Amino acid sequence: MKEIYNFSAGPAVLPKSVLLKAQSELINYRDSGMSVMELSHRSSLFEEIIQEAESLLRELMAIPDNYRVLFLQGGASLQFTMVPLNLAKDQAVGYINTGTWSEKAISEAKKIPGLDVQILASSQESNYTNIPDLSTLDVPQDLAYLHLTTNNTIEGTSIYHLPKSGAVPLVADMSSNILSTDYQVADFGLIYAGAQKNIGPAGLTVVIVRDDLVGKEKVPSAMLDYAIQAKANSLYNTPPTYAIYIAKLVFEWVKELGGVKEMERRNQEKAQLLYDYLEISALFDSPVAIADRSLNNIPFVTGQPELDKQFVSEAEAAGFENLKGHRLVGGMRASLYNAFPVEGVHALIDFMTNFEQQHGGK
Ligand SMILES: *Cc1c(COP(=O)(O)O)cnc(C)c1O
Repeated sequence: MKEIYNFSAGPAVLPKSVLLKAQSELINYRDSGMSVMELSHRSSLFEEIIQEAESLLRELMAIPDNYRVLFLQGGASLQFTMVPLNLAKDQAVGYINTGTWSEKAISEAKKIPGLDVQILASSQESNYTNIPDLSTLDVPQDLAYLHLTTNNTIEGTSIYHLPKSGAVPLVADMSSNILSTDYQVADFGLIYAGAQKNIGPAGLTVVIVRDDLVGKEKVPSAMLDYAIQAKANSLYNTPPTYAIYIAKLVFEWVKELGGVKEMERRNQEKAQLLYDYLEISALFDSPVAIADRSLNNIPFVTGQPELDKQFVSEAEAAGFENLKGHRLVGGMRASLYNAFPVEGVHALIDFMTNFEQQHGGK
């Protein structure tokens, strides 16, 4: 089999052991004679899978009992609409704008009639290469919620210090650092994440929501209503059964390795290796403010678009896949999620060092 390192920002690398386990159970799950894909979502075998997935996630994130865990569809992008629909009506809502995904969350919220969408802080002026200072943020207490993106997948920044929002619930798009940075669920009213970065396959969206925020507003669609989804234990309609099964295997893998704290430690180690190299490199640079650098998505540039292009293509030929930066920011980006092995970071640094020797300084 072709051996490569997959730096994709999402869908992203999955643990090999998870894929092997899925393979071993693929055509005959637990001696049922069926694949998980062929099981009824109302069967006891599948109910066990979804319940186990929820209880593992609760354990891994230490989710308090007064939070619901929902397994939904539509990606993180549908949450841009579901959050305001469920949490606010004819009210002010707050957003912190730290990148492309925050912008999208804001623009979707603005489409909902009657909402007063306020942007309380933004790093747009610096091209999102840093996180605005949130320590002094004055959060109006009449907001229905304050939304933030904990990890900016495209720009490579993370929010490590949450703003003090008083009684206003924080809502976090945690798509690209859930289970990889150790946040306290109780600090948030609602957390959501598309699964395809740190959890499993695309098609599954995890929502963790505090009880008092469920059923707060009337929602004009059952599929978009947290209360209906919660009441049905995420089985209102057919859920993405296979994606939930793989997520369960990934949760088991995280637990086996020592949980979220251990993931965070590994991610810090991997990211530091690459950032340390970028600091000393005469060719490659990180455009991101040091204090705000993401552990999971690490953009870097040579400063010469043609050379960036050449680097990406030579890297790909050498087995380093998906290093091309997002089309909006260019350059390169190494996504180092939980399942990305430290050996791949060492190999990348060796490759970059060689490339640098061939192409000199700046
Ligand atoms: C990938 C990503 C999204 C979009 O997720 P979809 O599941 O494709 O809708 C939203 N927010 C962040 C922070 C992301 O990384």
